[in-house]
Amino acid sequence: MEKEAFTPEQEQQIKERYDWACAVCGRKPEHGIEVFVRHILGGQATLTNGQVLCEDHNHEGLFKDFFVGLHGSSKELGDEKTENFAKAVLKTYEKHDVNGHIEWKED
Ligand SMILES: [Zn+2]
Repeated sequence: MEKEAFTPEQEQQIKERYDWACAVCGRKPEHGIEVFVRHILGGQATLTNGQVLCEDHNHEGLFKDFFVGLHGSSKELGDEKTENFAKAVLKTYEKHDVNGHIEWKED
């Protein structure tokens, strides 16, 4: 899916909607960090598809990398319940063609 860039006006509106706070840790520029507008589901530049993230959490996508890590570590530790949960979440990302740029393989 082609990714559209947000316009400066959209970035401004998204930052205001988030009150300039990082969607992950809640920090704001007043705490001495920079914030960025990034796509949530990739693709379209729409107001609902934008999120505010700080320099530490500056990534495209919606926590898919977290579930990729969780799936790998729970599998390694033999935690079947967590592994199955992470797998189900990742399959949902695939089903809806979300964050395809973050690679995940079942095995
Ligand atoms: Zn953050």
